[in-house]
Amino acid sequence: MNTEVIIVGAGPVGLLVAAELRLAGVDVVVLERLAEPNPHPKALGLHARTLEQLAMRGLAEPFLSGGVKVPAWHFGFLEQRLDLTRMDTPFPFMLAFPQHRTEALLAGRALELGARIVRGAAVTGVIQSGDRVRVDTDGQSWEAGWVVGADGAGSTVRKAAGIGFPGTDADTFAYLGDVHADAPPAPGYGMQNERGALIVAHLPGGLLRFTGFDPLRQDPANRELTMEELGETVERISGVEFGLRDPEWLTRFGNATRVAADFRRGRVLLAGDSAHMHFPAGGVGLNLGLQDAMNLGWKLAAVVQGRAADTLLDTYSAERRPWAADVAEHTLAQTALITATNPTGQALRALLSGLVRTLPDLSLVLARRLSALDVHYPAPGAHPLVGTRVADALLLEGKPLVSGRTLIRPDGYVWWATEGEDNPPDLGVTFRD
Ligand SMILES: Cc1cc2nc3c(=O)[nH]c(=O)nc-3n(C[C@H](O)[C@H](O)[C@H](O)COP(=O)(O)OP(=O)(O)OC[C@H]3O[C@@H](n4cnc5c(N)ncnc54)[C@H](O)[C@@H]3O)c2cc1C
Repeated sequence: MNTEVIIVGAGPVGLLVAAELRLAGVDVVVLERLAEPNPHPKALGLHARTLEQLAMRGLAEPFLSGGVKVPAWHFGFLEQRLDLTRMDTPFPFMLAFPQHRTEALLAGRALELGARIVRGAAVTGVIQSGDRVRVDTDGQSWEAGWVVGADGAGSTVRKAAGIGFPGTDADTFAYLGDVHADAPPAPGYGMQNERGALIVAHLPGGLLRFTGFDPLRQDPANRELTMEELGETVERISGVEFGLRDPEWLTRFGNATRVAADFRRGRVLLAGDSAHMHFPAGGVGLNLGLQDAMNLGWKLAAVVQGRAADTLLDTYSAERRPWAADVAEHTLAQTALITATNPTGQALRALLSGLVRTLPDLSLVLARRLSALDVHYPAPGAHPLVGTRVADALLLEGKPLVSGRTLIRPDGYVWWATEGEDNPPDLGVTFRD
């Protein structure tokens, strides 16, 4: 079977890349090993920059109308939450919105634009040869000019392409239980103390997520979490009996932190968790991946359709890798704060929490970093506006926009700017009518 681009993985990132490619008219097949979408929401929220980029394509409304706006968010479970309302964005909050609903909306968008999603197709091999790439699934071979590996942290595509995944192994494990409770706490409930860490999120349908860090249960071999253990952990850390019952998902996860050595090898590109993994502190991983998709989609479409040289794709890795490394760094720092249960760590936490409370600008710096509002792609020697973020452009068709004396790229960053009357230069990419 032949197509222009094969995307491996129908997670949120693969689906958004597919939608972006279809917007430009590129033929796309998405291969997904699961027969049915994953019913459990991993991520629970969307941050400001992701919402800005969805809004650029006219996609924000169903998220905003179906989600809950959270005005203060946590950094490393510090007692003092970050004030998100001071951020310079049309979306000064974190939007609580479960990942499986994000995936359903993005799948709808990709299908509506004409993407083909093949479920029950587990990719086993990827071989590049000349200007083609062969992708094998159980019993079938597919061929395309380009392959995007959006197949998660254990990525088969990344391994087949021989791209390294350097970083650190997990040394900290968190518990997670999506359960019901006889006596649920109020929204926003959470704590970190000398016994561990706990945060509770309210999910649709009366479901509650109890998640955090238990220093007494750090045996990496013990992957199973039982209701009994969850109840004991939660009660020991909080001192409260919530009457936990009816679990829908019980799991543990670690803090392995890695960034792929490159996001491109020839005709293979990586996006989302296949390119970076880290502790889900601050709830940023899904957002980082969706922002990869926005950076990659228009570039890959232009190269596939012969409207740009394939060197444009090198800018994808050059632009996105440093921001993945930035997330790896701050999630490691947050892990240190979450696991700081001894007196030294508690003192450090109290000090930092006090600073966040008394220095609003420090709160703002951390809020902008979590929300990816700081992401920019500087171009040495260019006008200082080049590479800076545009918060509220309407780029519905995925094409650039002239706004005053700037030209804005399809993913919402300034591409060219002038002080004078000059017209935009040839940027090496043309856009079809
Ligand atoms: C407990 C937990 C909580 C989290 N909370 C947050 C949060 O609050 N906010 C946030 O932003 N992020 C959070 N994250 C991170 C977020 O869930 C991930 O970053 C996100 O799922 C990445 O999306 P993805 O599409 O790159 O990969 P995935 O969601 O992993 O999707 C990959 C897809 O590829 C498929 N696949 C894998 N291998 C193959 C193969 N060989 N062939 C075909 N298909 C394949 C898989 O079945 C899957 O559907 C959390 C993660 C965890 C574990």
